[in-house]
Amino acid sequence: MPRRYRPTPLIGLSVALHGAAAGGLLLHPDTWPWAAGTLAANHALLTTAGLLPRCRLLGPNWTHLPTAAALRGEIALTIDDGPDPHVTPRVLDLLDRHGARASFFVIGRRVAQHPVLAREIVARGHTLENHSAQHLKSFSLHGPRWFEREIGTAQQTIADCCGDVPRFFRAPAGLRNPFLEPVLARLDLQLAAWTRRAYDTRNGDAGKVGDRLLGGLAGGDILLLHDGNAARSRHGTPVILDVLPRLLAACAAAGLRPVTLRAAIR
Ligand SMILES: [Zn+2]
Repeated sequence: MPRRYRPTPLIGLSVALHGAAAGGLLLHPDTWPWAAGTLAANHALLTTAGLLPRCRLLGPNWTHLPTAAALRGEIALTIDDGPDPHVTPRVLDLLDRHGARASFFVIGRRVAQHPVLAREIVARGHTLENHSAQHLKSFSLHGPRWFEREIGTAQQTIADCCGDVPRFFRAPAGLRNPFLEPVLARLDLQLAAWTRRAYDTRNGDAGKVGDRLLGGLAGGDILLLHDGNAARSRHGTPVILDVLPRLLAACAAAGLRPVTLRAAIR
């Protein structure tokens, strides 16, 4: 059963403002400057909300694990933009060595290119979640029909390849617009952002990436790393491979257990 779409107060207010502006213009055309100004301000607010990946004004959005998971000492590693044939197998080995589980937000197109690797992620105890079919920079500029096709295609590719239907969605670069949430509700997907990210597609300094992710580490944190599009260190190593051992050791020392987002719901 798809989950029911519930507009947030900001979306409800925006719909009401559009109705009031249209009605006002019909009854009193000379009030158009008021209507135009109000709608412009409303659109600026909606756009700003869509540009802030952790914002909840457009719909439900996970930036932390549920409280029960935090109390159990669980954290979530989320690994985006793969699968990558050069990086992902080494990430899987590092996770295995530390008994950690992660949620891989994969790109549908890359799953179709590397189906064996995608199945290997699942076979090793991790989950595949939806990070769109093509990972386009223009993702947030589209409307509901395009979202339905783009996200639905990735959902189908992942399910066909691995027999596992994603439960979470993350927008490319975290950028969204108000048309996304109704589509996610129809596809029964929960939007997930993060507690902290370290811009590890641009920053190849493993020390700085690690410092950023570990600063204030606590139960319930959702951390974002990349196996696809990973920045390279000075020695050419994808930065995630240099960061993960330190990160996983720090979790163990703090008594925190990396689990998948789905495991955190139990
Ligand atoms: Zn991404």
